[in-house]
This record gives sequence, C-alpha cells and structure tokens, in this order.
Amino acid sequence: MLLKARWLLPVNSPPLPDAAIRIEGESIQKIVSRQEITNEEKIIDLSDFVLLPGFVNAHAHLEFSRVPKQKNFTEWVRQVIALQASATEADKRKMIRSTAKSLATTGTTTAAIHAGLDLPVDCLSSLPFKTITFLEILGLTEEIALANIRKAFDGRVRALIEKDSEIYPSPHSLYGLGEEFLDKLLETSDSLLSIHLLESEDEEQFFRKRTGPLAELIAERGGKLPFPARSPIEWLASHRALSNRLLVVHGNYLTETEIELLQKGGSSVIHCPGSHRYFGHRDFPLAELQNSGVNVALGTDSLASNEGLSMLAEMRNFRTKSGLSRNEILKMATLNGAIALSKEKEIGSLEVGKKADIIGVPIGRHKDPLDAVFEATEVSFIMRDGKICFAP
Ligand SMILES: [Zn+2]
Repeated sequence: MLLKARWLLPVNSPPLPDAAIRIEGESIQKIVSRQEITNEEKIIDLSDFVLLPGFVNAHAHLEFSRVPKQKNFTEWVRQVIALQASATEADKRKMIRSTAKSLATTGTTTAAIHAGLDLPVDCLSSLPFKTITFLEILGLTEEIALANIRKAFDGRVRALIEKDSEIYPSPHSLYGLGEEFLDKLLETSDSLLSIHLLESEDEEQFFRKRTGPLAELIAERGGKLPFPARSPIEWLASHRALSNRLLVVHGNYLTETEIELLQKGGSSVIHCPGSHRYFGHRDFPLAELQNSGVNVALGTDSLASNEGLSMLAEMRNFRTKSGLSRNEILKMATLNGAIALSKEKEIGSLEVGKKADIIGVPIGRHKDPLDAVFEATEVSFIMRDGKICFAP
C-alpha cells in the first residue's frame, strides 16, 4: 500500500514535498518521491495532507475527571483522592472511554499511561492506541503499601501482564510510598519505571526542608517522616535506579546537580505543558536539561490538571512558552517519547523498518506543513501498525 501525501514530516530528516510512504504489513518499507510512484499498487491518495509519525504521549492518566483550581498542589491532591474514592467503576469506565477517544482523535498512537490499582484493568486492553501502562503503587503505611503491592502483582493483574508485556508496576512518586517499599520495588524491577518527581513547590519543600502542606498530608495519612534524602534524584542514584528505563515525570524543580545525575544515568524527563500551566509552577528547566543532553519528551497528563488531552494542544502551548522551534517540539512529541520508552527502533519517526504509525492533517491554505500541524485541533488520518483506523 502506498500513502501519497502533499508533505511528509519524517521528524528525523527534513520535510519532503509530494512524496509517498510504501507500507508492507505493519511497517514502513520505503519513502518514495513522486517520480517513483507507479500505478501498480494500491494508492491511498492523501495529496492534500501532511503525514507525520503518530504522537508518543509520554505521560497520561485516563480515569481522572476535572478538578477546579485549588490554592496549592496538596489541596489538589486531596481533591483527586476524594474524587477517585467517590467514583464508581462505571464512572471510571466512562471517563476512560471518553479521554481515550480524545487522545486518539488528536493524534496519539502510543501513550504511556499511569493507572490506579482500582482501575478496571480489562479496559486497558481495548484502547484506540498502543499503551505502555504503569500501575501506580502508593501506600504510606505498611498495611496499605503491602496490600497495594500484593494487588499490583496479584493473579488477575499478573495474567494481564503476561498477556500484554507492556504493563509495569511503578511507584507513583517517592513521597507516596514508604522508603522500605520503594527499596523493594526498585530492587525487583528490571523494567520501565515512570515516577512523578519534583513536580510542585510543595513536593520540593517536603524533600528539601521536610515541611509544608505535602509533609502535613503525608503525616496525616500515617506516613513516616522524614524521608531520608533531601534529593529524590540522589536517592534514586544511590539505589542504582537512574537508567534509560526511568521516566522522570514533571521534574519542574530539579537542581543542576540532579540534572547532571539524570544525564549520567540516561533517564528521560517528561514535561506536561498544560499541567505545568494549570498549577503555575516555576519555569520548567528546559535549557538546563537540553544543555546537559537529557532527553525531554512531552505528555498531556490528566484532565484533573489540563483542559484536554491533546498532543496538538501541548505542542502549541509549549511553543508559546518555550520559544523552541516547531521541529524541536514535534520531535519531543514523537521521537523523544519513543526514546523515553525505549521504543525508538519501532516508533517515533517515519523511517524504513519502523512501524507504520502515521497521522495526517489537511494542508488547507498553508504553504508550510508545520503551520498545518501546529494549527490543527484534530487529525484526519490515523494508521497504526499499517492498518488504517481513520481516514478522510
Ligand atoms: Zn501524572
């Protein structure tokens, strides 16, 4: 099958006008120029479209509903806990269906999702995009931590993990689980880990000074204070957990020393521009991360701290805030996400041999294909593993 396009944005090489992608089975077999196109094969005519790799959303939650703005991060956490406790399984299923749909229609073809242990796990196997799921382990008291660890590894989840090797138990954060359990979890894990780290001022205050609203919430819920390290990143380094298998989600309050450690370890940082704006965090340390060579990828986070779950919107938001070139931002929304998830050999760019995960937007009145992508609010073409899922 040949996908004929007005423009191709391969991401890892310059844009190509009037070109086509030959798909064989699930993969990209060749990128061809207009002259090379013959009529001997099935041609899907997308001559008015810009084709690009599907977005790799490196951090999302599907089950959360909207939370009104709170006076600080900790109050927001309290609201999320209360809302999750009152949501029924039917509510969660409904929410997952609707957020999954909005991720897919805005171009996400692979998503790294964090999922609570109470999530109806069967809904994770029928989502309209590929998933890498991180089952969040939380628990500030021994009793709760043990129960949750058991739940994450119990027969039902195990069976699902065996069926779909892309489900990994992972600590939600370093403040949400006692140190002794974090220790055990990291020791036994040789797979991907995705951890919320240094997201907020409250979290920074908790780690650096062991005070503040988050410290109060942790104490209220029976957590043992203080956490032994003032730097969660140094703590991870001392437990040999900084590797290219670690996704540091947020990292808004990282210090230069911590950034250096992440670089040495080869870990990625996932920035969520919409969520960053919702909380009004201090500036994301983008220049410091880029200068030291840390891989930075983008994610949408959840509806609890974002207006919607659209990688198109995240790219637009991030462009306004960061002043980065659109090519760099597009790379963060595709290839860098694939690198964070150790999937850069499979997805993240339009390259021979990679999976044919391709999205398209109409070129419309635009001359520059990046204008068309950065103005789009939805995608009009979706292909996953060489199968057309949505077409104009
Ligand atoms: Zn999150």
